[in-house]
Amino acid sequence: MKLTVKPLKQKDAGRGLAAIDRVSMNELDLENGDYIVISGNGDGQAVARVWPGYPEDEGRGIVRIDGRLRQEADVGIDDTVSVEPADVKPAKSVTVALPQNLRIRGDIGPLVRDKLSGQAVTEGQTVPFSLSFGPMASSGQSVPLKIASTSPSGTVVITDSTSIEISETPAEQVSAGGGPSAEGVPNVTYEDIGGLDDELDQVREMIELPMRHPELFQQLGIEPPKGVLLHGPPGTGKTLMAKAVANEIDAHFETISGPEIMSKYYGESEEQLREVFEEAEENAPAIIFIDELDSIAAKREEAGGDVERRVVAQLLSLMDGLEERGRVTVIGATNRVDALDPALRRGGRFDREIEIGVPDKEGRKEILQVHTRGMPLDESIDLEHYAENTHGFVGADLESLARESAMNALRRIRPELDLESEEIDADVLESLEVNEADVKEALKG
Ligand code: ADP
Repeated sequence: MKLTVKPLKQKDAGRGLAAIDRVSMNELDLENGDYIVISGNGDGQAVARVWPGYPEDEGRGIVRIDGRLRQEADVGIDDTVSVEPADVKPAKSVTVALPQNLRIRGDIGPLVRDKLSGQAVTEGQTVPFSLSFGPMASSGQSVPLKIASTSPSGTVVITDSTSIEISETPAEQVSAGGGPSAEGVPNVTYEDIGGLDDELDQVREMIELPMRHPELFQQLGIEPPKGVLLHGPPGTGKTLMAKAVANEIDAHFETISGPEIMSKYYGESEEQLREVFEEAEENAPAIIFIDELDSIAAKREEAGGDVERRVVAQLLSLMDGLEERGRVTVIGATNRVDALDPALRRGGRFDREIEIGVPDKEGRKEILQVHTRGMPLDESIDLEHYAENTHGFVGADLESLARESAMNALRRIRPELDLESEEIDADVLESLEVNEADVKEALKG
């Protein structure tokens, strides 16, 4: 059966789920908890566990999967995929490889089994493992675990009786299989962004559509935009969004920091710009992200001297010279849109603008869901409540709220921790939980 791919909601990502509405599930003769193979037009395939999705999808012929599964199946949002029941066996044992810099003392097997329980895995695959503590901790991100081998072989499901072994060889050295992302492509997916649905739609239409279907634009005789300007307060997700788009379309990603290129490379700024554009064109499809664009290209009256003028001129000529229309797109970000040199906002340059505002309550809740996704949260914690009480917080503030809460949980168990040691105790990891008091304390800041 053919279904259309859509993203999962933020809170449901990272668990190997495919949300399919009940009508389509019935047609496919599937039940909650069954496994399916999702395949697009290419060779890619992903195995997922079915779950009766969101009521609003009823009858729309949609399958919702997260960024990792989209990548494995080599499909994008709005693509049509075929969905078939999958033949998966329960795993007797699975050997996983941890990242080199994650050193754990004791048996982390049970914790891994617990978190991955119900997920279908195949040798060589990388699966995210939520771990909010220790050297790898950075909220919203998880530790990549590599499936080194499975018994039996093939695609297997991790169950409560699967034995989990930890490989002696770190993940980086275990070869083969779909790694997280090709080099130069960021690892952020749409499920890592909260509260910007409309803005994401616009970005996708301006960037993803022309990059994925250039023929549509050629046919219509319209030119895809070369530059898109994201503007709004700091910490609202502009960088995140640029990275997510690049990841979704497997585009090479180049970053230019406005202030850095003006100061660090003083005297070589133009050369640096040229090199970045060259690199992008060589690796197309590519996205060039220019952060704090206003520090490169402020209005002439604000701009200092010759250097600034020359750099702006260089940037304009590089953008004008972008040949592979739609194959290289420049995303500029600024929180001072009015300070920008108007020449940059004219046709053929940054002529599409999207405002990224401060999130509302619903947005804050989604952002909190993103950043607590991997955390062992006490059941009493109601994210809705915290979304209500964080008026004015932007994404970056909510991320630090989540991180600080986790740090507070860590402090509580500090007496049990051997802070001298570089290893973390598996038992300690298992007993960690973020509770109400930890979050309240973090809110006091
Ligand atoms: P900007 O580029 O707008 O200044 P960033 O995208 O760099 O902001 O955001 C900084 C961090 O704050 C991100 O890495 C992310 O962890 C968090 N963040 C910001 N906005 C969001 C959002 N909308 N959803 C989830 N996380 C967010």
